[in-house]
This record gives sequence, structure tokens and C-alpha cells, in this order.
Amino acid sequence: MRLSERTPSQQLLEELIEWLRIPSISSGGGDPADLVRAAEWAAAKVIDAGGSAEVIEGEINPLVVGELRADRADAPTVMIYGHYDVQSAEPLDLWTSPPFEPEIRGDRLYGRGTSDDKGNFFPLLYVACSLARDKKLPVNVRVLIEGEEESAGDSVNAWLAQDTGKTDCAIVFDSDMLDERTPALTLGVRGIVMMDVQVRTAKTDLHSGMYGGSILNAAHVLMNILAQVVPGKDGLVRDELRQGATPPTPEEIEAWAELPPGDAVLSEVGGKPLAPSSGDEYYSRNWADASVDVHGIETGDARQIRTMVPSTARAKVSVRLAPGQTCASITPVFKHLLEAGAPEGAEVEVSMLSSGEPAVFDPANPALKIAAEAFEKVCGRPTALTRVGGSLPVLAAFADKQIPAIISGFALAGDGIHGPDESFRLPSLALGEAAAHELYARLAEL
Ligand SMILES: [Zn+2]
Repeated sequence: MRLSERTPSQQLLEELIEWLRIPSISSGGGDPADLVRAAEWAAAKVIDAGGSAEVIEGEINPLVVGELRADRADAPTVMIYGHYDVQSAEPLDLWTSPPFEPEIRGDRLYGRGTSDDKGNFFPLLYVACSLARDKKLPVNVRVLIEGEEESAGDSVNAWLAQDTGKTDCAIVFDSDMLDERTPALTLGVRGIVMMDVQVRTAKTDLHSGMYGGSILNAAHVLMNILAQVVPGKDGLVRDELRQGATPPTPEEIEAWAELPPGDAVLSEVGGKPLAPSSGDEYYSRNWADASVDVHGIETGDARQIRTMVPSTARAKVSVRLAPGQTCASITPVFKHLLEAGAPEGAEVEVSMLSSGEPAVFDPANPALKIAAEAFEKVCGRPTALTRVGGSLPVLAAFADKQIPAIISGFALAGDGIHGPDESFRLPSLALGEAAAHELYARLAEL
């Protein structure tokens, strides 16, 4: 069967559409009752299939926690993770069909949450429930679905930290394929420490003709502070900020060589390389090294000619942490470097806004090996071993508990997540369904 001809089972599609109709928006503007409804909907699926589930109160939105028992007593236990919350669908007039009235056009299902993450995740839940109902579930499946992934909540990590239940591996479907035909397994994510830097050098802005050359300029102070941490000519950040990073395994380096060339990745988005070698080294830099970026600066007035000496300046700057580094070790170093760039007399306040730990999983881990084989069987192509340069705090929680996490999914870059006309390919849904069957069967041997 050709992949494009694959279709998900009708029942799966109908149930997913029901879930998608609930506007469980957590990123602002949503109705809290809808978030509860989406959580209860998922818990009911587990209970209807003969499992146990509860909706427990979270910091902001509830968590769904449940379990479906295997058909044999000594079966391994997997935990499936996904999120039922979605981003706001504004502006609504950019949607071809209403975001919470899912519609199939061509080989895609359109609607908010179709790809991120209800549609990507649901096959894991659906297949576990249908196998449990038929008394054919080969592994115990613990269910963990959160409602704060698109907001600032930390409930899922807090819950995982206190959980003592046995879990042999986790399966997270909230990620992309490499391309329409090639499955991918995400082995690592970077962490992040975000800082707010505020500078004050006088009570008020003063005239540069009268005082320039004699008083501190807040813009200059901020420039010098940021100069301490931005990358050098080679595009790398200073050694103090790179310490602790673990080099990727030879297996991964080999796998990365098969990926599209880094120069092409950069030119596709129109970004200019930071240093001559940074395109070539794209994967090792983005996935296994630290990086620093200034996200915004506010000072003075650049819109008109005003000859004032700015008295205040502010910046947001972050360091992305490579796997192997920790927030606890890098945060004080980063803060100290920033503070050390301030001259005497300037009032400088450096405060941490948010942080998330990096995580990495070994491709030689038995669960991950099984997963790579399962995805290859389903897609007919070897599984690409990738990482992401961004952060996914829940993975750090799994890594912390030494639970190997199979991070994958069948989303594609073209699904338009978080934007208007978000969609998910029906063949992706079918691949998710086939992959869930394959994973549960193979993980029974774990
Ligand atoms: Zn997501």
C-alpha cells in the first residue's frame, strides 16, 4: 500500500473530531470550563475501555492521569504523554473553515489542535483503548495528558517528580517526521535560562551636548553588558557557558550526516551564517552546544533625532543549554558574566525570568532501539535520529527519573501549528495508528 493511500480507521477519526470540537485554549482567551471538558473527555475514553483515570487539579489546568492494564500480569509499563490544550485560534478570519469545526479537505483534517497535539497524540490513546477493550493490550499503558503545554504551567513536571509508579519507558507524540515519508526519533532537547537585564544610569535622560562625554550612557552600559555573553567571531559562546556539555554519540554524528546539509537549512529560512563554519556545523551547534541570543532591547529613542543620553536600558537575553549542562550550574555563571560587564555607578539588575533543563536519551537504549525499528517498519524507511534545539521541559522530567522517552510523532513542518488553517494529514493519522500498534506489540518484549 502506498503511504498516500493510507487512511486512519473511521472510528479513530470520528472520536478525534469530537475532541477537536472542544476549544481547550490555554494560551489566553479560553474558557476554563472547556479545558476541564477536554480533560474529562480523555479520561472517559480510558474508563470506557475498562481502565482507570482521573482528572486532577493542576496549577492552572487539570491533568489527566490514568491506566489501562495489559492482558498479562508481568507486562512492561509504558507511559503515553500528550497535551489536550491548544493555542488560541485568533485571528479567526484567516481560517478557511472555523477552527473548532474540523473539516476534511483533500487528504488533510483542518482545525486547531489537529497537529499540535490532539491529532498527533490521539492514536496512542485510541489504540491502547481499543486493544484493552479486546483484552489484547500487550503492555500496561499509563496515560498522562496535560493542559498547560501552551501556557506557563508546570503541573506535569511537579506530578512526575512525585510519581512513584513503575514506568519502563515513555512515549511522547508531539513531534515531527523528518519529511512526509521519513520517521524521526528525537533524542535530545536543549534547556534554556532567560534573563531580564535592567540598567539605570541617571534619574532622567540628559542632553548629550551638555553632559555627553561626562556621564554614563545607559545604552552603552547595556551594550557592554551584552558584549560579555554574545558569541565571538567563530560564532561560539565563551567557554564558561559551554562547560558541561556532553558530546553527541558517534551513532548520532553518523545519523546527522544523513540529514539535509546545514547550509541548506539556514538558507531555506533566509538566515545568514554566524560564522563561515556554522552552516556546516549546524546540527552539532544547534543540538549539542550552548548558544546565546539577545531577544530584545529597549533604550533611548531611535525613531527621531533627539540628542539625549538615555538613562535607562533593558534587554531580554537567553542562553540555550546543551545536553549535559544544568540550569543550576549555568545560571550563576551567566548572571555573573552579565553583572561583571557593568561599570561602577550604573544600577544594574539581572534577574532570571524562566528556565528549563536540557535532556538527552541514548539511542542504544533498548526501548529507543525498539521504537526506531517500529517506525521504520511502519513507514518503510529508516528512522532519522534527531534532536531539537528548543526546550521541552517534560522530557527533562523523564530524563531525571531515568525513564527513556520515545519522542516522535507524525507532524510535518507544513502543518501550520499555532497558525490559521492548522491541519494534519490523514496519512499521518494512519501512520500514528499503525505506529501505536507496532510500538505496543514490540515493547511487550522490553
Ligand atoms: Zn505540542
